[in-house]
Amino acid sequence: MKLLTIGGLLVEIMRKNIDEPFTESHSFVGPFPSGDTPIFINEAAKLGNECTIIGTVGNDGFGDCIVNRLQESGVDTSVIKVKEGYTTGTAFVAYFGDGTRQFLYHWRHSAAGMITEEDIDAIDLTEFDWLHVTGITLAVNNHCKKAVERLIEKLPSTTTLSFDPNIRPEVLSAEEIRVLCEPIIKRSEYIFPSATEASMLTGLKDDVSGCKEWAKQGKTVILKNGEKGCIVFHKDEMLEIPSFKVEEVDPTGAGDTFCAGFVTAIGDGMSLYDAGRFANAAGALSVKNKGPMEGASTKKEVELFLKEQERTTTH
Ligand code: ATP
Ligand code: MG
Repeated sequence: MKLLTIGGLLVEIMRKNIDEPFTESHSFVGPFPSGDTPIFINEAAKLGNECTIIGTVGNDGFGDCIVNRLQESGVDTSVIKVKEGYTTGTAFVAYFGDGTRQFLYHWRHSAAGMITEEDIDAIDLTEFDWLHVTGITLAVNNHCKKAVERLIEKLPSTTTLSFDPNIRPEVLSAEEIRVLCEPIIKRSEYIFPSATEASMLTGLKDDVSGCKEWAKQGKTVILKNGEKGCIVFHKDEMLEIPSFKVEEVDPTGAGDTFCAGFVTAIGDGMSLYDAGRFANAAGALSVKNKGPMEGASTKKEVELFLKEQERTTTH
């Protein structure tokens, strides 16, 4: 399949040890190539799709770090713009013993926040089978919001749209997030919420009710549920698909990697259950390495992992 995405090209710099808040001086490691849609498109390319990303980097080493990685994985980076006068976006991450994470972004005012409507007009959208968008790209600033809106407006009706809300509540209020995401949810065929997002976006009492409401509107909804796996909602069906036991080293990026797995599986003609299983495997493999893209696997690696899991559960 030919896949397109748009979003913040970032590098991630993380605390070396847990329980080291940003208010204190300790060591960091990185840069690691990052950004939610870059993680998605990197994995999608490794899984064998033809992939393009719209985004912006600075003319600096961090920009090269991310662009080089995407190229190595086979992503077409020809529409990535180098924005003179701006530095590449960064995300600092601190991990805590209770499993929580703190993020400190330099995104809105960095090169990553400089995507514009002109970037959309420069692209022939008719060649893409699938567009994947995330809510955070809408929330970054007005340029990025307008660029996404233009993209949706110009999207051929034959292109499938998937949407991962992925907006952390510390960025905007629930009501602001709802207003921002509504038009894109309306156009989406696939929605990939994480815990609390379906409830927040629909205003319903819990995630299952929210997902069922979207399914009633004709969408296929895939609720990502961390180490528990995922639940797929389609028409009246609700498929609970358990994940696989792995040692979680770094959960950042699992959601985006999962989405790439699911989209690929649908493109390959798998059933919704099998697509959920394939995506669970890609997501599980992604948490085994430190760094958001460092656990990205090829299609062969995901298939091998699934075979091994079958062997260990049937014997
Ligand atoms: P992100 O933190 O990247 O925003 P998310 O919250 O959107 O991620 P999660 O639900 O944390 O997404 O993870 C996505 C998928 O990855 C899960 O549905 C599951 O299939 C897999 N996964 C995540 N964590 C684990 C884990 N510890 N063990 C096995 N599989 C996991
Ligand atoms: Mg998670």
